[in-house]
Amino acid sequence: MKPTAKSVLHDIFGYHEFRPGQEQIIERLLGGHHVLAVMPTGGGKSICYQIPAILCDGISVVISPLVALMDDQVAALQANGVNAVSIHSGMTRDDQVDAWQAVRNGTAKIIYMSPERLMSARMLEALSSLNVCQFVVDEAHCISKWGTNFRPEYEMLSELKQRFPLCTFGAFTATADEATRADIAGKLFPGDGDIIVQGFDRPNLKLGVANKNNWKRQLLSFLEDKGDQSGIIYCLSRKYTEEVAEFLNEEGMTAIAYHAGQDAVLRKANQDRFMSESAVTMVATIAFGMGIDKPDIRYVAHLNLPSSVEAYYQEIGRAGRDGTAAETMMLYGLDDIRMRRMFIDQDGEDDGHKLREHKRLDSLLAYCEASQCRRKTLLAYFDEQIEACGNCDTCITPPVRVDGTQHAQMILSAIYRTGQYFGAAHIIDVVRGSQNQKILERGHDSLPTFGVGKDHSKQYWQAFIRQMVAGGILTINIQKFGCLEISAAGREILTGNRNFEFREIPADAVRERRQSKKAARAMVAHSSEDDGLLAQLKARRLELAKAKKVPAYVVFPDNTLIEMASKKPANLDALAMVSGVGPKKLEDYGETFLSVINDAAMG
Ligand code: ADP
Ligand code: ZN
Repeated sequence: MKPTAKSVLHDIFGYHEFRPGQEQIIERLLGGHHVLAVMPTGGGKSICYQIPAILCDGISVVISPLVALMDDQVAALQANGVNAVSIHSGMTRDDQVDAWQAVRNGTAKIIYMSPERLMSARMLEALSSLNVCQFVVDEAHCISKWGTNFRPEYEMLSELKQRFPLCTFGAFTATADEATRADIAGKLFPGDGDIIVQGFDRPNLKLGVANKNNWKRQLLSFLEDKGDQSGIIYCLSRKYTEEVAEFLNEEGMTAIAYHAGQDAVLRKANQDRFMSESAVTMVATIAFGMGIDKPDIRYVAHLNLPSSVEAYYQEIGRAGRDGTAAETMMLYGLDDIRMRRMFIDQDGEDDGHKLREHKRLDSLLAYCEASQCRRKTLLAYFDEQIEACGNCDTCITPPVRVDGTQHAQMILSAIYRTGQYFGAAHIIDVVRGSQNQKILERGHDSLPTFGVGKDHSKQYWQAFIRQMVAGGILTINIQKFGCLEISAAGREILTGNRNFEFREIPADAVRERRQSKKAARAMVAHSSEDDGLLAQLKARRLELAKAKKVPAYVVFPDNTLIEMASKKPANLDALAMVSGVGPKKLEDYGETFLSVINDAAMG
């Protein structure tokens, strides 16, 4: 019987069902139609072009921006018994010749390369003499100046269609708004082909945002049950990544810092370690991310405010690509808002650009302060409407909105009467009635608002002012050293023509219980003991991965091990039924994983 898309999915990749959109995209490509597919990260883009590549007669060329990404894709295909190669400058000349040979003699049908390599005159010439049926452009948004990651070397790809008019073009991206999509399609296959957009929702990602009041405590409590998983913690500065990594290591976790200031060798080693082990926390600046294709990242935390909703979504999107539950947490404070405003103002671009960037930041702040379902707010930004999700902090513990008009007036009055000249710290000192030197020198102790807010803690007022800023009642003036100013809406509140509602600030956000290092470690040990079999399966996976020098997930993704641990298959036939166990992996790894399951059952 002739293989079909569905049979390849099962017989080679060991999966039982297509994910949304996959089948449609595969069918269009197999029918010779050009396709631009926009799918969320983890949606399963690779299979959409790998199955057509396996099924069509000729060769498929996959264009990918990063060497690490190509190598991982090739390793993953080979683990499933599909012969693919990559050709890039990181390989020895001999390896490149071998790879090219495999393509020429038809043993490898899929070839990965970078755009600059492909578009060299020699490579184009060489490919013309072969039977190329499909070109696939991965991270296709890089071709567009409208997109978030324009790469000049991608622009050359727009000449491909003319040179290979009979080939089918597939393009894939996770981030492209409408203008960018049209631009990509217009460059790769003008006037022809389909644009298929899958929803942006990632229901397996749990969303959470909190006011940053004590990051160490907050981070520990977030990581409490995650000691045996891998995740990313994003920080704004290089120094901060080092500090956080050191802190976590002291707490008994395995954390590594990663930033652009490290030398390339160290960075590569850190990345390899993260990719191949399964319980490492990467504490990184945004230098870490592009091309991180690890499907079993279980959490992403932000210790600073990201730059925009798009960036935030892309960053948290690196978690849970295997479709299994993953958790996110963003901590932010007033300082973060001030920093972001400052970055925008310092950016050399024109005023229109700055204004747009400030507006984009406003959208992110609105998301942070959302009091309805957070996911709903997030997806609405991408023009997608959903019902309340039940898997975000605001769904799980709906925030209580209370009237804060009076408190807002205290703050506004203090700001007004001090000449809109001071930052939050000083304004808080005024309303809390601090007798410090700065207050006394300026005579601020004689203001009518002096001490009116002394019943609340400093942290309370910080959180309150942050909400006023996020709500557009106050603005931060970067030119004047980050002082707080009153907006038009703020004036209305001050004059009693408008009310201010805010999210109640829970007492425990102000005074969180201190967790001892020992308790944290005990938690971690406990949770891994709970999943004894899973831990053993993971340990075996790591041994195999190390021996083969591939990332652990190339052997089996987390999902597959979790299913194995719960179904406890007793023989090869039963093991073959587990999702992600194709024939090649069954042959290579079946016995060894069965013996782990068996030994565990014997106690
Ligand atoms: P993307 O490139 O869209 O971010 P990938 O192609 O890397 O996503 O796929 C993410 C993960 O989902 C991979 O581990 C992949 O093997 C897995 N996957 C893809 N399609 C399916 C499917 N139909 N069933 C189960 N798992 C799948
Ligand atoms: Zn929700």
